[in-house]
Amino acid sequence: MKLSGWIVLIALTCSPCAWSEPGSPLQEIKGRWQQGSILRGKVQAGTQIEFQGKKVPVGDHGEFVLGLGRDADAEVELVLKGPEGEWRHVYAVEKREYNIQRIEGVPQKTVTPSAEQQARTRKEAARVWQARQTLRSATDFMQDFKWPLIGPITGVYGSQRIYNGEPRSPHYGVDIAAPTGTAVQAPAAGEVILVEPDLFYSGGTLIIDHGQGLSSTFIHLSKILVGLGDNVSQGDMIAEVGASGRATGPHLDWRMNWLGERVDPTSLVGPMPQ
Ligand SMILES: [Zn+2]
Repeated sequence: MKLSGWIVLIALTCSPCAWSEPGSPLQEIKGRWQQGSILRGKVQAGTQIEFQGKKVPVGDHGEFVLGLGRDADAEVELVLKGPEGEWRHVYAVEKREYNIQRIEGVPQKTVTPSAEQQARTRKEAARVWQARQTLRSATDFMQDFKWPLIGPITGVYGSQRIYNGEPRSPHYGVDIAAPTGTAVQAPAAGEVILVEPDLFYSGGTLIIDHGQGLSSTFIHLSKILVGLGDNVSQGDMIAEVGASGRATGPHLDWRMNWLGERVDPTSLVGPMPQ
């Protein structure tokens, strides 16, 4: 192999082991360096973290979470600042191919809303955005996440959506088909930071904050079983599946956000059990 080939090989095989760099305060990092992924790790307590220009919160015992957006750059940099200096870890990010999904039969008003309905959706989006600004120091995100319900996956993160023939923004959740009334369980512990029974696009909407900027959003719900400010444990029944908002039939749409990035919840759970 030519030298350049070896350099590429070393760069590829060694990108996930950059933390072994002597002296770095990075102790571990778990997850896949792929567009949409969520990664979790630990640094020596007292380390400051910056990732893609964002200041990343660090827990009392050094816990942190990172998210890669749908169209994350091919190379990202994690900067760690400790009492003994500064370390820069560069990671290669796998690119994902996103498919196009055509959805027919959603209520036409949710594809071409009136001026009045658009004004409503802007207000609702602002309320949702505001709810996600809370930055809890909890580290519930370090748990092993579980599927909120078991069922066939009918929509995936990142796909380009065409509703009733009209292109709209990409889909950022995972859709799991289930009859109306099916129980939704908390995929991990957290605090309820938004309860909205009927938003224009997302219908019954619930957000659970897992700490340090990572949250789960559940939409199209028929019923929400928890209240604002409640603390939930993993596995708690939090809601029931529905078809409210822009939906063609009953399903759960589970989304995740990390400090303003929309990330893929399936990066935290294994394959859907059959
Ligand atoms: Zn969906």
